[in-house]
Amino acid sequence: MNILILGSGGREHALAWAVMQNPKCDKLIVCPGNAGIEQIAECASFDIMDGGAVASFAEENAIDFVIIGPEAPLAVGVADRLREAGVLVFGPSEAAARLEASKSFTKEICDVSNAPTAGYGHFSDAEAAKAHIRANGAPIVVKADGLAAGKGVIVAMDEATALDAIDDMFGGSFGGAGAEVVIEEFMEGEEASLFVLVDGEDVLPIGSAQDHKRVGEGDTGLNTGGMGAYSPAPVLSAEIEAKAMDEIVKPTMKAMAERGMPYQGVLYAGLMIKDGQPRLVEYNVRFGDPECQVLMMRLGAQALDLMHAAAEGRLAEAQVNWGDDHAITIVMAANGYPGSYEKGTEIKALETQPEDSHNMVFHAGTKAQDGKIVATGGRVLNVTARGESLQEARDRAYAMVESIDWPGGFFRRDIGWRAL
Ligand code: ATP
Repeated sequence: MNILILGSGGREHALAWAVMQNPKCDKLIVCPGNAGIEQIAECASFDIMDGGAVASFAEENAIDFVIIGPEAPLAVGVADRLREAGVLVFGPSEAAARLEASKSFTKEICDVSNAPTAGYGHFSDAEAAKAHIRANGAPIVVKADGLAAGKGVIVAMDEATALDAIDDMFGGSFGGAGAEVVIEEFMEGEEASLFVLVDGEDVLPIGSAQDHKRVGEGDTGLNTGGMGAYSPAPVLSAEIEAKAMDEIVKPTMKAMAERGMPYQGVLYAGLMIKDGQPRLVEYNVRFGDPECQVLMMRLGAQALDLMHAAAEGRLAEAQVNWGDDHAITIVMAANGYPGSYEKGTEIKALETQPEDSHNMVFHAGTKAQDGKIVATGGRVLNVTARGESLQEARDRAYAMVESIDWPGGFFRRDIGWRAL
């Protein structure tokens, strides 16, 4: 099989690494890729937001299967263009990708499916939104309806903060994404993510994870894209996972099919768990980054078979071969991240890191320059390891982190604390 992966982050490096291990993969091309991906696959350069360009590239290069990594191309219908061109693709249609692109749409689907989630109101008028906040009081959560790269959510612990958030959003701070807002009941509990493959009809859970969003140790400081993650999430016991599948994932996927927009791809369910009951915080329509890195470390080569089965509508007969294992990924970020950070600093001692089924340094923001590897992004490396226990995986990952020579970067020393 000739495979094309779209994207350039640690998520796509992990997908490429897993896919390459499967003997069914004859050739792998990644667009645009990064310095780490370049070491294991061919990298191409074209506009991944242009569905026509992706379809032409797939045809010219005899691609049999396309895996779309990030949400942005999904939200503009790149999967639809590929399907129209007769190319097999892993990833939802533009219509189904609204589960991530519109928070009010997801709430509506939860309503019709009776899926447990936070109570909410949906507003396109600032005064009505403020009246709702005053009537319900704090804590309360204000969200821009559209995609805002994780920055459109204000968890307000007091009323004034919530009211200010309304002024900001209707004032245009989030562009089009803030023209409508969803105001939600504040949910208490512990958060975890459940990843589920969906083929339009059948569903297959492929693992859980927890991440660390804050930049500082003890989960303090500014929000980031994620500073580390581990899988499985101990809070998501088999019983709670079954509840999440039966009460949230299956009914909402059924509602999508009934609306004529069957979902196909990976569904990332952000859950809040309290007293044994999961409630939906959000859906994303792609793998999380860095959660994908720990899922791929655990699934290995079978990830390709599973994604291929989802794309071909064969999930009913698919199953995951689980190892009794744990995986963790530590994010190394450029000094200053998530604020302004320096680019172009050199990273040394990468070539001496182990690379096998238990240890891998995934690249997130790097490029090769004059024979050196330099940092090009905020989150730069995802140092990932697997073990029989989370402690074993963690010790291994931190040993790699400590031996990477990069004065221009930093990392959190406490990834996994909640689970240990
Ligand atoms: P991202 O995809 O980066 O997680 P997002 O913009 O899609 O962010 P959400 O996941 O909806 O936004 O919210 C971000 C975070 O805010 C959640 O992970 C959770 O910690 C918190 N949050 C969101 N909604 C609620 C809620 N109703 N009650 C309590 N906390 C919430």
